[in-house]
Amino acid sequence: MDTSNKAQFATRYDLPTPEPDSPSLSRSRKPYAFSTLCATVENPDSSHKDQHGSSSVPIYQTATFKGVGGEYDYSRSGNPTRTHLEHHIAKISSAQHAFAVSSGMAALDIITRLLKPGSEVIAGDDIYGGTNRLLTYIRTHMGVTVHHIDTTKTESIIPYLKPGKTAMVLLETPTNPLLKIIDIASISATVKERCEDAVVVVDNTMMSPYLQRPLEHGADIVYDSATKYLSGHHDLMAGVITCNRDDLAQQMAFIINSVGNALTPFDSFLLLRGIKTLAVRMDRQQSSAMLVAQMLSKLGFVTHYPGLPGHPNKEVHERVADGYGAVLSFETGDKELSERIVGATRLWGISVSFGCVNSLISMPCVMSHASIDPATRAERGLPEDVIRLCVGIEDPSDLLDDLQHALLEAGAITIAANDFVRIPNAVNKAVEKLADMQPRDDNLDRNREWFVSAPGKVILFGEHAVVHGVTAVAASVDLRCYALSSPRNDKKISVRLTNVGDHYHEWNIDDLPWDAASPVPPGEAHADTLDQHLLDAIVQRSLPPADDLPPKTHGALLAFLYMYMSISHTGPDQRPSFHFQVRSTLPVGAGLGSSAAYSTCIATVLLLLNARIGVPPLPARSRSPAAPDDPGHIHVSHQGRRAIAKDSAEEVNRWAFVSEKVLHGNPSGVDNSVSVFGGALAYTRPGFARKSGMDAIQGFKSLKFLLVDSKIPRDTKKIVAGVAAKKMEEPEVVQKLLDAIQSIVDEARRALADPELSRADLLLALSKLIDENHAHLISLGVSHEALEAIRRKTAAQPYELSTKLTGAGGGGCAVTLVPDDFRPEHLQELIAALIADDFQPYVTAVGGSGAGILSPYKVHRNVVHKKEDPITPPETPTPEDSAEHLAFIGSDSQLTSEFSSTPHEDFAHWAESQGRWMYV
Ligand code: PLP
Repeated sequence: MDTSNKAQFATRYDLPTPEPDSPSLSRSRKPYAFSTLCATVENPDSSHKDQHGSSSVPIYQTATFKGVGGEYDYSRSGNPTRTHLEHHIAKISSAQHAFAVSSGMAALDIITRLLKPGSEVIAGDDIYGGTNRLLTYIRTHMGVTVHHIDTTKTESIIPYLKPGKTAMVLLETPTNPLLKIIDIASISATVKERCEDAVVVVDNTMMSPYLQRPLEHGADIVYDSATKYLSGHHDLMAGVITCNRDDLAQQMAFIINSVGNALTPFDSFLLLRGIKTLAVRMDRQQSSAMLVAQMLSKLGFVTHYPGLPGHPNKEVHERVADGYGAVLSFETGDKELSERIVGATRLWGISVSFGCVNSLISMPCVMSHASIDPATRAERGLPEDVIRLCVGIEDPSDLLDDLQHALLEAGAITIAANDFVRIPNAVNKAVEKLADMQPRDDNLDRNREWFVSAPGKVILFGEHAVVHGVTAVAASVDLRCYALSSPRNDKKISVRLTNVGDHYHEWNIDDLPWDAASPVPPGEAHADTLDQHLLDAIVQRSLPPADDLPPKTHGALLAFLYMYMSISHTGPDQRPSFHFQVRSTLPVGAGLGSSAAYSTCIATVLLLLNARIGVPPLPARSRSPAAPDDPGHIHVSHQGRRAIAKDSAEEVNRWAFVSEKVLHGNPSGVDNSVSVFGGALAYTRPGFARKSGMDAIQGFKSLKFLLVDSKIPRDTKKIVAGVAAKKMEEPEVVQKLLDAIQSIVDEARRALADPELSRADLLLALSKLIDENHAHLISLGVSHEALEAIRRKTAAQPYELSTKLTGAGGGGCAVTLVPDDFRPEHLQELIAALIADDFQPYVTAVGGSGAGILSPYKVHRNVVHKKEDPITPPETPTPEDSAEHLAFIGSDSQLTSEFSSTPHEDFAHWAESQGRWMYV
């Protein structure tokens, strides 16, 4: 430890000095210092000396031991290498008992098995994401109540301490990544005073026994993820548990032996080796951490490190711990700036975890804490922009230098008067705003064609139940609605709805009922309710009766005109005159969000034509077309960067919602949000006990699904009413089903957002949840025979796939999860079999990009393009010559004619190959 830091701490090491294996000297000894204890591994049983005198503990790589009645018989129950390790851990932790197990989470699993149904747990509100995940599981599956509270104030736990009920208080200090300090000593005393049976458990991973030994401060059980500092090299997974109470030790030993998650001999050997250098590593790491923290704080970043003056509860930490540790975090005030900084470092590796000899950098909200949903993160005060640094043993000057370079490159700091100075965020923001604004020429926007597209959606989990307050998970599909606007010069607007009766309609702009319109000025939002006066005027004066039009056409035209008249704020001569053609690769009316995709296309085109949103200018720096950060084709949900400004995307979404209201009366807003933003989101209706609203599911991984349209039209309203009636008749039965569906949704959200879950495990978990969810939908009475036939077909040998109905329509459509390794010939065979049964299957990716705009820059267009040609991205020009590259294509362009003539099956590929798409 850095000696200047060490002086802050009152505690001296007074651990028992063991008898060394080497012959003792006659004079009396002072207690060994911690680093000596670490390096000196004793034999736990001095009667059994190593037969060869090996100086390092051998690996007893054996499952069984010969003989009867010996100390060891079976390695699940005991192994000499592990015994050495456990003895060593107990020694350095001031503990009578120590257990070495397979991971930090395994340690917590063992500890939580001390709980019984009905028990209550009090846990911190800023704890490791995995801990959070396990506690949620216990809460939802084991009848244990968990209270997450702010444990930084001892008194805040008092209302939750209930004698006879509170069984465990789980603490972590300092917390990760905000380094909040919890007073283990005062909380332990308060718990013992009021609930003597409750055990105080401390996750000591951030400190290690070198810097903090909570058993000395009243904790009953302490555990560490030994994957971190104890091992120090990120070459093994392990967890350790220590305690002084025999009863607890006995119960935990029983669980470890029963479950079989004790540490293997080889890992025990590695961990023992790592621990020998714990103190020296930690000394170096925390002295460098202090230098880094001081540098960041001096530059003006909000820096969290207990060693900095003014860190909240610093004095509590200094009373309990022996050092400040080597993890710190800082805020930049801007998530995208943080992402740039993290991406620009070289020596600091981007990785989850900490405690290794190498320095690491990460953004907890997108990595280690991604399994906590964004709303909870926000509630717990975890800023989205926070960057965590875990300092290693490299030379501190290299670490500082690399970080400074990254800050410079990302635009967070600059050099002035030969020193680094922070660029204020306001300046950063202004630069970004400039980049979002194009040199806007209204006429140019109005007289240019715009080609846009937006995806449909599937409800993956929670349909029907969502009506009764359960959360639903919806995700975008790669079947899309496409719209092309081409300028006209005759003061007319026209619409062609290719997939809805191939209907064409045109109007003289001046003949529209403008007297009934009150267009919404730019920068203002449409009222929550629709303008009934305008709706009536359009229906009576500008549309034929619905019965004279093909099905669905009346609503589609009404939505278009209502939007046109509400958005076109400009005077009579400037109202855009254009032709609007729509095509869809999404089946219309199959519950796959085709109306939201159509609404999104209308909103995007009208906002572009009226110059209320714009596409970004070409980038300031000419980049290699092959470079991954080329702005042309970016899905914000996956890459964290967006090509269309966020404000513009939100504006599109607000207007798409207006159009959805025209089409559906009272939509939830889920379909248009998925269509605009892509990816996946969770939605909970307001008016129920659960927190309502919409949350993006961060880190959603694109999944392959087979969507099968049963082609059985269903009356959504009737089926929804049927479920409501069932709930009235059998409230308890239906409530149980709804609760079960909520658990499925929670489980699915956790799995989807869990960065540590392997792809194979994720797919397996989702398959199981799909089957369970469908079974509950059958119980709710919303499935039908055609869907069950699809399910049987997909579940049969050799496919064995999981299928559920999707959408509140009770499943005009079914979704079938297709694992990555599903054989292509099986997929073809299955598709053929489904078609033979008169179903319509579509293979689709779920969770992809949202609304897109075909780049208007000529350099981004592939004007001549055949299906078999590879799509080569053209060179990106410098901004000086960008104006002349703006495509300006008249209404008779090749694009316009191909839009209507390209066959349906080639359409998506044709659209994709027209040039660069800029996605929200
Ligand atoms: N506790 C804390 C504070 C952690 O950071 C971690 C892992 O990151 C764990 C527990 C879980 O440990 P493991 O990954 O070894 O299971």
